[in-house]
Amino acid sequence: MINATGPIYLDHAATTPVRPEVIEAMAPYWSQQAGNPSSIYQWARDARRAVDEARERIAAILGARPPEIVFTSGGTESDNAAIKGVAFARRARGNHIITTQIEHHAVLHACEWLEQFAFETTYLPVDRYGLVDPQTVAEVITDKTILISVMYANNEVGTIEPIAEISRIARERRIPFHTDAVQAGGTLDLNVNRLGVDLLALSAHKFHGPKGVGVLYVRSGTRWQPQQQGGAQERNRRAGTENTPGIVGMATALELAYRDLPANNAHVQALRDRLIGGVLERIPECELTGHPTRRLPNNASFAFRYVEGESILLGLDVRGIYASSGSACTSGALEPSHVLAALGLAPELVRGSLRLTTGLDNTIEQIDRVVDELPPAIAALRAMSPAFAPATASVAAAATDARPSPAVSSPTVAARSA
Ligand SMILES: *Cc1c(COP(=O)(O)O)cnc(C)c1O
Repeated sequence: MINATGPIYLDHAATTPVRPEVIEAMAPYWSQQAGNPSSIYQWARDARRAVDEARERIAAILGARPPEIVFTSGGTESDNAAIKGVAFARRARGNHIITTQIEHHAVLHACEWLEQFAFETTYLPVDRYGLVDPQTVAEVITDKTILISVMYANNEVGTIEPIAEISRIARERRIPFHTDAVQAGGTLDLNVNRLGVDLLALSAHKFHGPKGVGVLYVRSGTRWQPQQQGGAQERNRRAGTENTPGIVGMATALELAYRDLPANNAHVQALRDRLIGGVLERIPECELTGHPTRRLPNNASFAFRYVEGESILLGLDVRGIYASSGSACTSGALEPSHVLAALGLAPELVRGSLRLTTGLDNTIEQIDRVVDELPPAIAALRAMSPAFAPATASVAAAATDARPSPAVSSPTVAARSA
């Protein structure tokens, strides 16, 4: 698929390629066993069994019971259903929701949308590493608080939040707790009892499964209302014909991810650390963003002074390196990242953000090529920037000189960013 001379894909936080074993597991459910799981003949019963087995396989990884698993169309739907479902079910009890400033838009925009129905949201700040302080959660709870939603790991900077600590506070106050675990799926512990969560969202395409399918875990006993009306699928909790191939593919991808978890994480983390070490060593005026140690094993995110994130992406694209930036180009306008702004990064650093996320398909050779190609790409962009003073320009010019790749030993992230 992607080889040493071809493009280098370093945007696994955006989506991941589907593993061949997953494609193979899905294939029968598009043709030989394409029955509607709700029909009654044998052909359909095969599909029903596949969906039920997938539910059991996923529940096992989450430490949940199969009826607590609801299949959805992905992370966005799961987050929306969790937040709106609890908000409307507990409306008589209160109207206050607590979340954070660094959530994915699937959470932020769902909370904003609820404001028209007189719900109110507190968006908690984070520290400079993107960490939520559990104490701040405790401080903003009122008797009107009906839901707390804090993401497990951040999609832009990779910071891992103290979910178990926050859920303990939520439980003491008897407030349902939702976590957007989409970025954690496939790399972190998803056991809902160790995490202490009542609702949890996952998306298959972030862990080498197919796009358009996800999970909403709802702990039994949680007051929650379905957000989609129609047929009786998913025990009346999510109407619509089940995506049988997607559901089977998701279960297979999740199983594969957790079967080989330590080896997979070691692989992506070694590549990440090599990337972070190389970039910080060879590019001046650059910072690691997110937490130095409490971060996803595959996330390397940076902010560069005197350069625009969008330009870096274009510069990398022509070199066959695929990455992303916190500043996403939405309908022609460069929207600064709400996450990096919440971390308190200066506006010029927010504009110069770059996220590189490693995956199972990446190799050391690819990382070394990126570490070689990024410094001249950044230097060339800075040379064109009026904000870039000549004194610093000579430093950047030096960085473009061909230098050997960093040693194989991977410096720890903590030491690097200290
Ligand atoms: C990707 C992502 C989502 C959205 O998931 P989709 O399946 O693409 O809708 C939600 N939250 C986080 C943290 C994500 O990274």
